[in-house]
Amino acid sequence: MNMDFNTDLIIVGAGAAGLMAAATAAEVSLRCVVLERRHRPGLKLLMCGNNRCNISHSGTLEELLDAYGEPTASFLKTALSKVSPDALRTLFSRWGLLTIINRDRIYPASEDADDVLHCFTDIIRNSEIPFMTNCPVDSIATLPEGGFLIKSPKVTLTARYVLLATGGFSYPKTGSVGDGQRFAKELGLDVTDPRPGLAGVTIANPWLNPGEKADIPQVEITVFDGERRRVAVTRGNLLVESDCLRGTAVFDAVRQISRNNLKDFSLVLDLFPGTSVQNLKMKLGHGMLANALAKQDIPPALCGVFASTVPKDAPAEQYLKQIPLDVTEIRPLKEAIVTVGGVALHEIDSQTMECKRIPGLFFAGELMDIDGPTGGFNLHAAFATACLATCAIADKRGNGHYPRTIDIITQNRHLTQEELRRRKPFQGMPQKHTPRKRSDRGDRWDKPEPPSWNRRPKK
Ligand SMILES: Cc1cc2nc3c(=O)[nH]c(=O)nc-3n(C[C@H](O)[C@H](O)[C@H](O)COP(=O)(O)OP(=O)(O)OC[C@H]3O[C@@H](n4cnc5c(N)ncnc54)[C@H](O)[C@@H]3O)c2cc1C
Repeated sequence: MNMDFNTDLIIVGAGAAGLMAAATAAEVSLRCVVLERRHRPGLKLLMCGNNRCNISHSGTLEELLDAYGEPTASFLKTALSKVSPDALRTLFSRWGLLTIINRDRIYPASEDADDVLHCFTDIIRNSEIPFMTNCPVDSIATLPEGGFLIKSPKVTLTARYVLLATGGFSYPKTGSVGDGQRFAKELGLDVTDPRPGLAGVTIANPWLNPGEKADIPQVEITVFDGERRRVAVTRGNLLVESDCLRGTAVFDAVRQISRNNLKDFSLVLDLFPGTSVQNLKMKLGHGMLANALAKQDIPPALCGVFASTVPKDAPAEQYLKQIPLDVTEIRPLKEAIVTVGGVALHEIDSQTMECKRIPGLFFAGELMDIDGPTGGFNLHAAFATACLATCAIADKRGNGHYPRTIDIITQNRHLTQEELRRRKPFQGMPQKHTPRKRSDRGDRWDKPEPPSWNRRPKK
């Protein structure tokens, strides 16, 4: 039975992954409709990197995989090798968004997240992609004859393919409330429990008065498990707000705690990671410790705090390189930068992002059980998986004509007329394979029959 679907592809969610999927769909002439829960797209994208939007991280494939760590690394290997940071930069520059690299982090040249969002919304507008905001999808059902039925309070649509890009659970006001994980569960798929990924911690004693904030640019935090085994070492800034510690060193440490499912853990802070105990002793001298700390670029508000917490029986230089953090709790998931957990990776084909048990259903971005450290890794994962998934859908719709769409996209060229023509128009149900004839010359395949809507009347 042939079925008329409303569209080839429905993209659920217009965050980083959904927007990239829509832009890629435009690039490969794939008919799609985008449905977004909130009144406008990309609300979380706009918050990224303190509104500067750290879109990716430069490095070799090995370096990137190492930073993600397992199990994310193995799963993302294909997506990252196809959509490398360089490929992503070239893709963005073709769409008019120039990028810069600052300490390996990739940002838009304007360092303004608005420009990243506009880059996508311009493509969506120019390509006239149907785009519905204030349109929370309520349910997704598979149709007996193939394809999907998507219901939201205002519209019901059918499509041959669905791409779920509904994000994680953090910052729910941006629209990511775990709907995609719910749909996956309702469809019988395994979903791992969500935990806070890059999140802050609360410590027992306030270090600063309420309302005060202080930032130390470079510290090191070591994560130990319940048996005092070293699990991870993270580096970055430390942002202190009363009894709450944030900043990249803390965020990355909390991600390691969640990834390793540590119920019992301890954190130790090194205030001077680049300096040996011996050198630190010389730097601090014999005067007032608080004054000496101020000379070592410790924010004034914190010098007194650290000086007063040095135990009487310990040398200051040793203590300052091993300050035990008395953590009372990890900040809740809604405050996390990223969610650990999501649609289980064994449910998804990492070559295409298609659901193994439900063909035609694709995933992209944070709703899957993938996450990365701070530094652009999470947006890169969202962009790369969305690009890979959309190209795989285009290939499926075009009955797998080669070269593969993802190679065309990442080689930074548009589909030629010939390639576009070879992608047959979508006709609902999977089409029967019609063998192509050898040409008279015998050295190439004849062009396939033009689609019915493009055939000239026979004379
Ligand atoms: C404060 C903050 C700063 C960050 N900074 C960075 C950074 O600089 N670099 C970096 O790499 N990462 C950063 N991240 C993480 C990054 O933003 C996310 O990993 C990324 O946005 C995930 O993209 P996504 O498309 O999967 O999900 P999201 O961006 O969360 O998008 C999901 C979209 O789906 C929509 N949606 C949800 N349910 C439905 C439904 N039922 N129907 C229709 N639509 C739905 C939502 O409204 C939302 O628009 C930051 C996160 C936060 C919170």
